[in-house]
Amino acid sequence: MEKKLTNNRNVFVSEEEKTLIWDDIQLDLEKNFGSEVYKSWLKDISLLKEFNDYLVLGVPTRFFRDWIVSRYLDKILELVKKFKLSVTRIEFRITEDKKTNLNQDFSEVSKVTEIKDSILNYNRLNPNLNFSNFIKGSSNEIALSYSKKVCEQISRYNPFYIYGGVGLGKTHLLNSIGMELEQKHNVMFISAERFMYHFIKSIKKNDMVNFKDFFRKSSVFIIDDIQFLRGKESLQEEFFHTFNSLIDKGSQIIVSADRAPTKLDRVQERIKSRLSGGLIVDIDSPDIELKNKIIRRRLEDIQNQFKESIIINDEVLSFIAQESKSNIRELIGALNRVIAFSRVHKRTLNINDCKSVLKDVFNQTKVITVDKIQSVVSNFFNIHLNEMLSQRRSRPLARPRQIAMYLSKKLTTRSLPEIGRRFANRDHTTVIHAVKTITRIMEKDEEMKKNINQIKGMLFEE
Ligand code: ADP
Ligand code: MG
Repeated sequence: MEKKLTNNRNVFVSEEEKTLIWDDIQLDLEKNFGSEVYKSWLKDISLLKEFNDYLVLGVPTRFFRDWIVSRYLDKILELVKKFKLSVTRIEFRITEDKKTNLNQDFSEVSKVTEIKDSILNYNRLNPNLNFSNFIKGSSNEIALSYSKKVCEQISRYNPFYIYGGVGLGKTHLLNSIGMELEQKHNVMFISAERFMYHFIKSIKKNDMVNFKDFFRKSSVFIIDDIQFLRGKESLQEEFFHTFNSLIDKGSQIIVSADRAPTKLDRVQERIKSRLSGGLIVDIDSPDIELKNKIIRRRLEDIQNQFKESIIINDEVLSFIAQESKSNIRELIGALNRVIAFSRVHKRTLNINDCKSVLKDVFNQTKVITVDKIQSVVSNFFNIHLNEMLSQRRSRPLARPRQIAMYLSKKLTTRSLPEIGRRFANRDHTTVIHAVKTITRIMEKDEEMKKNINQIKGMLFEE
């Protein structure tokens, strides 16, 4: 916190002091933004100067800077604060482009992106993500079964749209479809981030013709994380045309996103409506059963792959499955840490080792799921979950049911129809009614208010 009187103008300047290890922050950036965004935009950020309350980061070009500032800066700052709480702002300095001259800008961009940015390089499917190692559970079985159907006959469900939260298996499914169809079709697999990146690069290099041809020649076009396709009219225009021309010639389009098409922001209406025109499926958070299956299967795969005997006892595996939030990526990350620990220490972990190894993994903000709400509410009222979800209308069951619907609406990002579906396939109007009813009762009834607060407390603690 030290401030030092430095120059003769008598101003306080925070002294430069280096405590950050930039590589660690980079790892965290990759983890948080995902490898596509990271590789495209964040990898080349360097730490130039570090002060007590701010950082100066180097970025290759102005274009990079503007892009990063407009999209990622808030979150980068948040991450940096985890490493150094006193940092309150970030400044950028351009490390490569000397002039603002346009031509200069072009060459800088191509310099930065030199080696790895050929579209071909990014069109690789990952053979490790396929149908045979995708594990079925109640949260993903519909998405899985339609993904397989899409492979049986292309253009039947067109476009095929899969959505769900982070780390629930969307990319895994898309990739599986790609692997399956690759044998017979010209498959194009790209993230929306990459698509935009190549689009912009092509404009700068005056190479739009190639860009268009490249994407339009695919017979299966898979685009991952389409929520990143936003803003930039010209880009959306191009996407729309690509989309239409592919559909016209009978190509299959497969899309993933973190939300339903209607909820995409800063995406043109006509694109949303195009995206909604085929089949939409969602993946929900895994239940404990699925988490248990995935973690055990994963451990087995690692043992087979490395032909080593890693012994992780059952209690530890169950602990991880239980504690990990509704995110399969995090579940696997936790398992990897535990494995690394037992490799390094050459011994089997007990539950306390495990807790301490995973302390920071599990201490992140809590994600509340519909499942969790249902189980906490039914416990709270001492009724069976099946009864709460049943069609019976007696008040002792109907009230808790309505409370659970109300909380699902308030505490999760799920839409009304999605919530309805999770309550034994009820209509979204039933959910609306429940939300209204509980809101109204809460206004007058202290008891109700108290109950709801108590349930919330139970959801957020643990
Ligand atoms: P998303 O694209 O939805 O953010 P990913 O497809 O990247 O999520 O999945 C995150 C991790 O979880 C990946 O390692 C993936 O292989 C794994 N995973 C997700 N769902 C399953 C599943 N049902 N069976 C096995 N592994 C899964
Ligand atoms: Mg993904």
